Amino acid sequence: MHWQAFGRTDRGRVRETNEDACLVRPDLGVFAVADGMGGHAAGEVASRIAIEWIERGMLGAGPELPAARREAILGDAVHAANRAILDYAARDPDKAGMGTTLTAVALSAAEPACVLTHVGDSRGYHLHAGRLRQITTDHTWVQQQIDAGYLTPQQARVHPFSNVLNRALGVQAEVQVDRIRAELEPGDLLLLCSDGLTGMLDDDDLREILDPRRELDELAHRLVDAANQRGGLDNTTVVLIRATA
Ligand code: CA
Repeated sequence: MHWQAFGRTDRGRVRETNEDACLVRPDLGVFAVADGMGGHAAGEVASRIAIEWIERGMLGAGPELPAARREAILGDAVHAANRAILDYAARDPDKAGMGTTLTAVALSAAEPACVLTHVGDSRGYHLHAGRLRQITTDHTWVQQQIDAGYLTPQQARVHPFSNVLNRALGVQAEVQVDRIRAELEPGDLLLLCSDGLTGMLDDDDLREILDPRRELDELAHRLVDAANQRGGLDNTTVVLIRATA
């Protein structure tokens, strides 16, 4: 399997800084979105550390390796990133309480599959045969309420606690990370995004914009522009990956 990719991150219309970060390394077959949190520029630091450790961890684990091997190495990189963020915060009291989401994907040249690791409320979506499916689960308080039947997804979107995370990198020494696998066919799209996108656009909006016939850079710009037209209340980051034959 081969792939193309394009990423874009944008400050949005309201925030003064961009605490999102992304990784687009088609040569390594590794892509990621991180959305940092914490005052005194801590969010920017946390998301950047996460991205750097994912990149570093995957440098020696190229896409020719089997997906299972890549998944293990990616998992190790996520835990190393978690420790690196905790260490950084321990050295700098200004940065106490910083953390970040992380949604990272590794593609395998050897088989038509990808592996994702995921913590927080950034998301991964898979567009296959015209159907868009969210393949990550948000680690949020409102998602727990949806799962328990107390909130509808529509109520969760506008709930005052919609941003409360149950899990993030840089919060505890051990972090529980979701591992997800997806089969990919040529023409399929993967979208990784921060909640600045999905806070402004629902899944129907995303599906409408994600016309698979368009170039990835155009799709990325259309997504970010649409989020900004709806208010751009948060930083918005998108990474698009297209599987090719
Ligand atoms: Ca955000």
